[in-house]
Amino acid sequence: MSGFDCDLFVIGAGSGGVRAARMAAQRGARVVVAEAAALGGTCVNVGCVPKKLYSEAAQFADDFRDAAGFGWDVGAATLDWARLRRNRAKEISRLNGIYEQLLVGAGVQVLRGWGTLCDAHTVQVATNEGAQRFRARHILIATGGTPSVPHFPGREHVLTSDQMFDIEPFPKRLVVVGGGYIACEFASIFQGLGAQVRLLYRGEQVLRGFDDDVRAFLAQELVKHGVDLRLRTDVEAIERRPDGLAVTLTNAEVLEADAVLYATGRVPNVAGLGLESAGLALSPHGAIPVDDDYRTAAPHILAIGDVTARLQLTPVALAEAMVVVDQLFGEGRRRMDYEFVPTAVFTHPSIGTVGLTEAQARERFGAVRIFRSEFRALKHTLSGNAERTLMKLVVDAASDRVVGLHMVGPDAGETVQGFAVAMRAGATKALFDSTIGIHPTAAEEFVTMREPVA
Ligand SMILES: Cc1cc2nc3c(=O)[nH]c(=O)nc-3n(C[C@H](O)[C@H](O)[C@H](O)COP(=O)(O)OP(=O)(O)OC[C@H]3O[C@@H](n4cnc5c(N)ncnc54)[C@H](O)[C@@H]3O)c2cc1C
Repeated sequence: MSGFDCDLFVIGAGSGGVRAARMAAQRGARVVVAEAAALGGTCVNVGCVPKKLYSEAAQFADDFRDAAGFGWDVGAATLDWARLRRNRAKEISRLNGIYEQLLVGAGVQVLRGWGTLCDAHTVQVATNEGAQRFRARHILIATGGTPSVPHFPGREHVLTSDQMFDIEPFPKRLVVVGGGYIACEFASIFQGLGAQVRLLYRGEQVLRGFDDDVRAFLAQELVKHGVDLRLRTDVEAIERRPDGLAVTLTNAEVLEADAVLYATGRVPNVAGLGLESAGLALSPHGAIPVDDDYRTAAPHILAIGDVTARLQLTPVALAEAMVVVDQLFGEGRRRMDYEFVPTAVFTHPSIGTVGLTEAQARERFGAVRIFRSEFRALKHTLSGNAERTLMKLVVDAASDRVVGLHMVGPDAGETVQGFAVAMRAGATKALFDSTIGIHPTAAEEFVTMREPVA
């Protein structure tokens, strides 16, 4: 250990970096972390947390309508966008402070500045007080990802998700470009908050990678909620005019907008990291290649989270951090299991999903049984709210194991989290059937669907 300033140097204090730094320090390692922006990274500052807060805010639009059916008169509801932004910023600052306390309390040295690799054991951090160099026994790269916008005329006029949380004034006419979960969430959120939203996607259907039933169902619900969804549609150019932005589509149609959000993908955050100085090359997709132990080509440099472009989710980055800490400072090597990672999409209605899509299951197992239920949630019945809920189970016919579970409806993420435990435990459809439902809930459908539809 002699000759090293620390046992672990972490570059990036986001989801993965904070967890790794804190847990390594708690195990007695000397840890330094460098963060160029706010502590907590994407998730806390411009991702999961502010997005979920705004999704909750948007949900009230539906709730006020439902309330009328239950006899409540709430008057004309109006949104104070400045208050929402202010309250969000206050909550995020509180979380930033908690992250700092967690790190400092665990004995981690926190440096505010940009970290660059000088060689396979040395990191330089550009802080306000000048550059500092550290020789580290191990280096963990946890620099996350960043939005990517394609090149086209007028690209300079578009925003990314990073800027949407503080956009001012509120965009009454918003164009969202993209078909992934971030594009769908922002379209749904801003529609709920009162914007007129157009969602443009060049592909056949939004949410590639999700179950096809879920994709079609969600698309239908977005439209029902008022989102103008245009599939097989792309942008040719964007021009600033006195009354806003003119978005010219490839079919020559021109849309007027106050703001255009590009949510067309994210790329690993590797620019300016000095990877070449440590002898590291990138994968063809621009990510840092790692083995099953998260080691790069330089074995004492490891990488986790979005910068490795595996499953880009906060709980995955956290779990990877724990595997790394156990390996370097704890019980030893163990493998992260990427099967049955549940996830949610915070649209209105929301999506919760775990396991295989129907198409993936058919490819893997051949014979599958599909159970599907569609209904209107009790909460919506009195107001005439036309939103519907979809629940779907995918079962491997040979083993009877439930290999896919999908929901579109209120609180889908809350519902699916518990089922993910059952599925990781290998629950069969027979076990689902023998489980007593909680009545009346939407979740009980998952244990009461008896007749396969395919
Ligand atoms: C809009 C949006 C919504 C999302 N919603 C969800 C969700 O609902 N659920 C979910 O699970 N995931 C969600 N995600 C994904 C989630 O935020 C990421 O998967 C997660 O933050 C990845 O963690 P990380 O540690 O890899 O990187 P990050 O959290 O991105 O942290 C990386 C940190 O490294 C810093 N950094 C980068 N380079 C350097 C450098 N050279 N020196 C010093 N610091 C550096 C950055 O400033 C950043 O703070 C969302 C993402 C976005 C963009």
